[in-house]
Amino acid sequence: MSTAAALAPDPDFHVDLEYALLCVDCSHVYQIPRQTCPACGSGSGLQLAKILDAERNRELVRGLRALSKLLVWAKRPTKPRVARSVETPAVTS
Ligand SMILES: [Zn+2]
Repeated sequence: MSTAAALAPDPDFHVDLEYALLCVDCSHVYQIPRQTCPACGSGSGLQLAKILDAERNRELVRGLRALSKLLVWAKRPTKPRVARSVETPAVTS
């Protein structure tokens, strides 16, 4: 089998996210329990589930920072309001 044929997409291929590894050297996805990338032989695979979870956590942190800034803005001191004086008409008898 040629290398190109070995790397051709398999329409029936699927990987559970918990077992999916992303090769940092060639960007191919393979699955645990493989220790090395089947495409390039690299042993530098990252668990996709952890990468995606990290991205979700970054989104959460960004949201909390934005909320924190909004709360600081909402609690900012405001200038005291000056009550308008209402002149009462002089009472004459
Ligand atoms: Zn690889």
